[in-house]
Amino acid sequence: MEKKDDNISAMCGPAIGEAGKTGDWRDMRPVHDPSKCIPSIKKKAACFLCWLYCPEGVIKATIPIEIDLTYCKGCGVCAEECPGKAITMVNEGAKNG
Ligand code: SF4
Ligand code: SF4
Repeated sequence: MEKKDDNISAMCGPAIGEAGKTGDWRDMRPVHDPSKCIPSIKKKAACFLCWLYCPEGVIKATIPIEIDLTYCKGCGVCAEECPGKAITMVNEGAKNG
């Protein structure tokens, strides 16, 4: 009889740089405002939905969060998922932010 191991599972996650240096061709970039960011406001680990949903894995769950723009592709998922509206997508050509 075949033995079944219930503990075996397949897992995968994004790896930084897997899609190349996407910052080279990105049109939009995320700008983070710590004054609206839950972990920065509460001064403790909380939320981090941006880190969870970023498909490139380029957001660090630190206080404040850090975004590696070299590998960010500007998809806007982080801004979309942020409950505090702490991330805004701006045009790459924009001077501020
Ligand atoms: S825009 Fe946000 S979610 Fe998309 S790759 Fe960049 S940091 Fe990640
Ligand atoms: S999702 Fe928004 S509020 Fe939550 S940690 Fe990220 S930037 Fe901060």
